[in-house]
Amino acid sequence: MSDCLFCKFISGEIQPDKVYEDEEVLAFRDINPQAPTHILIIPKRHIATLNELESDDQALMGKLILTAQKVAEEEGIDSAGYRTVINCNEAAGQSVFHIHLHLLGGRTMQWPPG
Ligand code: 5GP
Ligand code: ZN
Repeated sequence: MSDCLFCKFISGEIQPDKVYEDEEVLAFRDINPQAPTHILIIPKRHIATLNELESDDQALMGKLILTAQKVAEEEGIDSAGYRTVINCNEAAGQSVFHIHLHLLGGRTMQWPPG
């Protein structure tokens, strides 16, 4: 998707503050962090929202979670605890339409979220 910001991060046209990358996923620091650790984990394949997922994407979405686990450990937030969030569409607050898992930690979280 040529007009997708996160696809530009994947292609290298724009360089984010990268924390992890492999053949399937990319993780980078959020530009407007909502917690001391705020990292976005994205699939390298463009998928706009959770609504576009198909059954073949099961392993890929599991990969996002396992990447969050790995990055949380590297960031030292695993034992204190962290939150993972995927917003879907406008009512949930999605603003970039390339699926991304938020990994948030380094402070106490409130529930319910706003
Ligand atoms: P959403 O609101 O779609 O769930 O999350 C989009 C996230 O992308 C937001 O937390 C926002 O701060 C982040 N974001 C938007 N533009 C950029 C950017 O240019 N670079 C980085 N690193 N994050 C961005
Ligand atoms: Zn994209």
